[in-house]
Amino acid sequence: MAKNRQFTIGWICPLPLEKEAARLVLDEEYPQEEVQYQNAYYLGGRIGKHQVVIGVQRRIGLSQAAILAEKMRAGFPNIRYFLLVGIAGGVPRYGPAGATSEIVLGDVVVSSPRGNHGGVLQYDKGAWEGEGRLNFRGHTNGVPGDLMAAVNNFRAEGSSQTNITEVLEQMRLRLDNDRQHQYDDPGPGRDRLFKDIYEHQGTELDDCRVCCDADYVESRADRGSGATRQVDKPSVHFGNIASSNQLQISAIERNRVQQEHDVICFEMEAAGVMDEYPCVVVRGICDYADSHKNKGWQNYAAATAAAYAKGLLAMIPTVDATCSAQSAEQSSSQHSANITNMTFGNNTGGIQARDFHGNVQFGRC
Ligand SMILES: [Zn+2]
Repeated sequence: MAKNRQFTIGWICPLPLEKEAARLVLDEEYPQEEVQYQNAYYLGGRIGKHQVVIGVQRRIGLSQAAILAEKMRAGFPNIRYFLLVGIAGGVPRYGPAGATSEIVLGDVVVSSPRGNHGGVLQYDKGAWEGEGRLNFRGHTNGVPGDLMAAVNNFRAEGSSQTNITEVLEQMRLRLDNDRQHQYDDPGPGRDRLFKDIYEHQGTELDDCRVCCDADYVESRADRGSGATRQVDKPSVHFGNIASSNQLQISAIERNRVQQEHDVICFEMEAAGVMDEYPCVVVRGICDYADSHKNKGWQNYAAATAAAYAKGLLAMIPTVDATCSAQSAEQSSSQHSANITNMTFGNNTGGIQARDFHGNVQFGRC
C-alpha cells in the first residue's frame, strides 16, 4: 500500500484497447506486481512529473466506471484527479449556422461547459411525464475549476502546442514489428459519414464497404475545408459530452439529443465518474454515433485521445502526494459548493464557462 500512495492521477480506461494506448504514453512503466489493490493489477507509471495509475473497467457502462473510480480511490488514496480517456461517437458538426465546426474520425473531444451544461450530462436520466416524455434531470457536476483551468490553458496555447503528432510518433516507436501499423491514421478514404436517412444495410459485423451504398457517403472533401485534416493532425473540440447507459447508434436520435442538449459526443461512462470525483473526460472520435458504427477507427482514436491527455497532464502542476488526499476532499467540497449555486436545466440564461473557473489551487494542503 505504501507504494500505492505515490499515485496522484487516476486514469480510467473503459476498454482494454484504450489501456494499451495509454501504456504507450507512459514515460516510465512500473513493475506490475508493485501496482495492485485487492488482488487486481493496475498499470502504474510516470508521465512527465506525474505519478499515474491506470485502471480498465471490467465491463462498459456508467455503473462500472463509478465502481472502478471508487476502487481506485480506495486503493490509491492520494489520487487527486481522474482523467477518463477513451473512444466515443461524435456528432459530425456543431455550432451556429454559418460558423459550424466539423468533427471527423480521429479528432479529440474534451469535456467543457457549453450552454446550460457543465461538460457532461446523462441524457437518459429523468422522470417519465405526460405523454411518454422523459423530463430531463441528468445534470452532472461540471469539470472542477482547477482541472478546467488546465484545459483552458492548454487550449489557449493553440493547436500547435497540443503535441499530438509528436506523441503519436513516440508511441509508434515503442511498438514491436507485429504491431507497427496498429495506430496508423486510417485516413480520409476510410472516414465514411453516411447521410442521416441512410441506415446501415448489413449486420453489425458487416463492413460498410461491403453492404452500404457509397452514394450516401459524405466524404471529408464533400464536407468542406473544415473537415480537412493532415495525417496525424486531428482537431480538438471542447463541449458537452452526452453520457448514458444506452449505446447510441441512431443518427436521428443523435441529432435530437444534440439539438436538445448541445452535446458534441456520445459515450457510456463519464456520468458515472463526474458526480463523485474531480474528472476531465478526453475522447477520441471513432464513429459518428449512428448505425454504421464499426471498429475501424478505434485504435487510432484511442491513441489520439491518449496523446492529447498526455499533453494536458503537462499543464497540470505536480500534486504533492503527502497532502493530496486532504486536498482532494477540499477540492471535492469546493467542487460541490460551486455546483450547488448553479441553476441548470430550463434556465434561458445559460451557464458560461467562466462559472466553472474556480479559484482552487493545485497541490495545496
Ligand atoms: Zn454501414
